[in-house]
Amino acid sequence: MEKQRYDVGCYFDGAFGFFHNAKRIISFAEELGWENLAEELRHLPVMEEDEIDMEILVETIDELEEWLTDNTIHEENEFWCWSDGDFGLWAHCGECGEQINKEEGCPIESCQ
Ligand SMILES: [Zn+2]
Repeated sequence: MEKQRYDVGCYFDGAFGFFHNAKRIISFAEELGWENLAEELRHLPVMEEDEIDMEILVETIDELEEWLTDNTIHEENEFWCWSDGDFGLWAHCGECGEQINKEEGCPIESCQ
């Protein structure tokens, strides 16, 4: 599948809660060609929060951070990850790895 380009920003608002967002992140990744191999998550779209093994779900999202970063087009030092409960594509400092606001640059003093 051809990689899609994304701009920095929040794609999954933390206000929806982790479980709801995890479901949406997984279906987002599936649309981009990721294959969900975890048997426990096979019926995820119709599962309720108390039916799921949360640990597997958390591990899967961890794995997807890397997968999405590798399988989408974005600028250097931009990664898919959580930021204050929001999941999205966020810019990071090329020097220290700190998450940054692109307009403002790195907040770490030794980096400036
Ligand atoms: Zn820095």
